[in-house]
Amino acid sequence: MKQKKIPMRMCVGCREMKPKKELIRVVRSPEGVVTMDPTGKKPGRGAYVCQAGDCLSRAIRQRQLERQLEAHLSPETAEALQKALEEIRAREEATVQRE
Ligand SMILES: [Zn+2]
Repeated sequence: MKQKKIPMRMCVGCREMKPKKELIRVVRSPEGVVTMDPTGKKPGRGAYVCQAGDCLSRAIRQRQLERQLEAHLSPETAEALQKALEEIRAREEATVQRE
């Protein structure tokens, strides 16, 4: 029987390998704009952080995210990323409660 491989990625916050679906992708577009990429399909250089926990803020604080994306993160961009993650989490929670 062929075993299905779970795609694993490393979180830039805690540096642990996790299944891709537990992580969220941050992408730097070819134009240099850093945004959250919940679909994981945007073009550009990507980095992954855990959807749960404070890995995103840690990755921003320790500049791991900047290093991975090879992009400068302005405080405004950092804030927008945190906000986007909160929104994604809120949406997930709403989905869970409906079940
Ligand atoms: Zn993490």
